[in-house]
Amino acid sequence: MLAAYYNGRSDVRVGDLPEPKILFPGDAIVRVTLAGICGADLEFTHNGPELGLIPGMRTGHEFVGVVEAIGNEVNGVTVGDRVLASAGFVDGQCFYCQIDQYPSCEHFGLFGSHLFIPHGGEDVQGGQSELVRVPYANGTLFKLPESLSSGGDDAKVFPLGDNFSTGFHGALNANIGTGETVVIFGDGAVGISAVMAATLFGPAQIILVGRHDSRLELGKKAGATHVVNGKTTDPVFFIKDLTDGRGPSSLVDTIGGKSSLTQTIDVARAGAAISVTGFGHIFEPVDQPFSAGLFRNLRFHTGVVTVNAHVPRLLPLVESGRIDPSLIFTNTLPLAETERGYALMRDRSSGTVKVALSNGCSHRPGHRRRRGDRRGDRPPLCRRRIPCRHAGARRRPVGSTGTRDCRQRFLWLRRWRPRGTGDDAGSGAGAARVARYHRAQCRISHIRPL
Ligand SMILES: [Zn+2]
Repeated sequence: MLAAYYNGRSDVRVGDLPEPKILFPGDAIVRVTLAGICGADLEFTHNGPELGLIPGMRTGHEFVGVVEAIGNEVNGVTVGDRVLASAGFVDGQCFYCQIDQYPSCEHFGLFGSHLFIPHGGEDVQGGQSELVRVPYANGTLFKLPESLSSGGDDAKVFPLGDNFSTGFHGALNANIGTGETVVIFGDGAVGISAVMAATLFGPAQIILVGRHDSRLELGKKAGATHVVNGKTTDPVFFIKDLTDGRGPSSLVDTIGGKSSLTQTIDVARAGAAISVTGFGHIFEPVDQPFSAGLFRNLRFHTGVVTVNAHVPRLLPLVESGRIDPSLIFTNTLPLAETERGYALMRDRSSGTVKVALSNGCSHRPGHRRRRGDRRGDRPPLCRRRIPCRHAGARRRPVGSTGTRDCRQRFLWLRRWRPRGTGDDAGSGAGAARVARYHRAQCRISHIRPL
């Protein structure tokens, strides 16, 4: 099976690796339909030699998929269930799990990292793969509700396994009050997720601080009322100016580096809550910045990937359409192009925020490129028995498929008239051909909100 693995500093490759097996009664095997590349994957693999990463380690800790096999003690999910995995596996039963402190679980481990092997058993694997072994499946996997199980909703649900839950965790712990101002540092996937999560608390102003105009534009779509590019504008001055010189009462630092932490403390209003989800301080030691907060009663909160505590309350919001976390995806590539995905995410000038790796619909070896195909956007041809992630769209009649974008693409395809689909486009073989092209082409729009 195909799987991505670490091969050295900033070197991730895709190879044909052995399929995983059930090792413990609590294990499950999941056939991954959609995986992702996280900013943490970039940091881990770039700093691999310092962290002691072992070449050959399978990468990735974000995925959704379909349960392929379960061990004897797995009772939360069953074969065939469409599931979301938490980025970190947890037993769900220990003292810390009972008090919602999941990252401190006595059996916590991160997919795609050998750093926690003693807890996950041998051969802890990554999610950037066709199949993955999930330790402690009862605590780690969430069965998706029927309304989000069509496969077409994978991208909406997917970020709850890591980025969106972390962004929500940051917003929640920043004590955002209705009508108040919240500032979010960092325009990556977690920062943009934190913006969207912040809208749930009803603040009057959401200020996003970043360094890339294209990402800041995405932040506006997520709900930011103001954005500031730290490369060209002093964020502290900008924010003070917007808050009567006092500063905001809530701040979320999704970077956690020396510069962002210093600016966060500098700009905070007296009595503000500062929530730090970033881990830049792991790679860039921060001098104690707390003296700047003396006399100001600042409150600090730290923490990441407390996924299990938040997914039960976030899933209904996705189901109802209140939030659409898939906004963070800017690119979708087949798993076989994982290396290109890492390169796109490392290249900050590429406009890429987050790459999804599609696994449910992979291309047959030797697939011939057709007219209209673009590299990475080729019409997926399902070769496996798992449902296509756009199965929901496929079942709808042509021309009335939910989103306006699909309809537009359909009209465009009619104008294009692929082989003999002119006036007969509404009936017979011509209609069938148009429908086929439509189904193939509309998929991208389902996963990439416009
Ligand atoms: Zn636990």
